[in-house]
Amino acid sequence: MGKAVFIYSSELENYHYPPEHPFNVDRARKVRKILNSIGLLSGDGRSEVPPQATDRITLKKFHSARYLHALKSASEGKWDAEALDMGIGTGDCPVFDGLYDYAVLACGATLTGVKMILSGSADVAFNPSGGFHHAGPEKAAGFCYINDVALACLIFAEQRKKVLYIDVDVHHGDGVVYAFYDRCDVMTISLHQNPRTLFPGTGFEDEIGTGRGKGFCINVPLPVGTYDEAYMEAFNAIVPPLTVAFNPDVIVLELGADALAGDPLANLCLTNNVYIEIIKYLLSCNKPILATGGGGYNVENTVRAWALAWAVLCGADVETDKNPAVSGVMLGSTEWQGGLRDRRLVISQTQLETVMPALERTLETLKASVFPIHGL
Ligand SMILES: [Zn+2]
Repeated sequence: MGKAVFIYSSELENYHYPPEHPFNVDRARKVRKILNSIGLLSGDGRSEVPPQATDRITLKKFHSARYLHALKSASEGKWDAEALDMGIGTGDCPVFDGLYDYAVLACGATLTGVKMILSGSADVAFNPSGGFHHAGPEKAAGFCYINDVALACLIFAEQRKKVLYIDVDVHHGDGVVYAFYDRCDVMTISLHQNPRTLFPGTGFEDEIGTGRGKGFCINVPLPVGTYDEAYMEAFNAIVPPLTVAFNPDVIVLELGADALAGDPLANLCLTNNVYIEIIKYLLSCNKPILATGGGGYNVENTVRAWALAWAVLCGADVETDKNPAVSGVMLGSTEWQGGLRDRRLVISQTQLETVMPALERTLETLKASVFPIHGL
C-alpha cells in the first residue's frame, strides 16, 4: 500500500449553509471523527493533511473573473441582480456567512490532493469536503459554487496527465462533463439517475462528446430503483473496458453518496457495498486516485459510506471479522451491528422487472456508439 492522505481541517467547521438547506457541511467532520476513533488516519502510510485555500489565479483556470468577483462580493453582503443571474443567491445556492471563504477552502482541499499526487507525496487522496460538480465557469448551481473537481482535472491535464474522471454521485456531473466535452485528454464517465427524473436534466446516453472529445464522454443514466447488482452490472460493462483502452495516468473519483437508498433527494437504492467494489476495482488499476465527497443528503448513510470508502482507499481490511476496528464499529444512532457496511436490501419484484431491461438498452447503446471509437 502506498501513501494515502485524508484532507481536512477544523477550519472547515466554521462555515454552514443555511439551516434549512439540505447540504450538510458537518458530514466531513463526522467522517473524520469516526476514522480518527478507529485509527485510520495514521500508520501504514496514512496521514491527515490540512487544505490550503485556492488562490484567484488558480480559480480563473475554470471560473470567469466576473463570476468570482460576484461570488466574493455577495459573500461580503454586496449582492445584486447580476449575481442572481449567475445563480448566486438562489434557493439552491444561497448566500451565507463566509460563503466565498468556504468555497475556496473546500476547493483547496481537493487541489491540495492534486498537488500531493503530482509531487509523488500521495498515491491516494480523499477530500470529503469536495465534489462540487455542478458549478459552471460562470454559474452557481445544485448547491455548488466553485468546481473543485473540474479544476483538479484541468490541473492534472496541464501537467500532461491523462485523466479518468468517474462520477458516481446520483446527479449528472454536468459542470465537469461539459468542461471537457471536446477534449480527449480527460475522459468523463458519469453514472447517475435518469435525467428525465432528476436534476440537472442532462446526461443522456447520446451525449458522448464532440470533435476530438467524441467518445471520451460517457453518460450512464440509471432507472429509478436501481439496486446494487444492476448498478455493478452497468459499472462492469462500461468502466473497466474503457479504463483499459484509455489507460489514464490518474483517476479522479466524485463519490457523492446520494445514490444510496434512503436519500431524500433521489430515487436509487444502492448500499455502500457498491462503493467497496468500485474502489477496489479502481485501486487494482494501480494509478493515483483523487477522491472527493459530493452529494449525500441522508447524513448518517453518507458519513458511513465515506468512512468506509476511506477505509478501502487507505488499504484497511474491511471484510468482516478480520479488522474488528473497522468491521465492528457503528454509529451511535444506528442499530446495525455490522460495522460501516450497509446490510443488503431486499429487491422488489417491480425493481427486478423494470430496472435491468431499461439498463440493458442503455448499455447496448453505449457499447454501439462509444466502444468502437476505442477499438473495443
Ligand atoms: Zn448529487
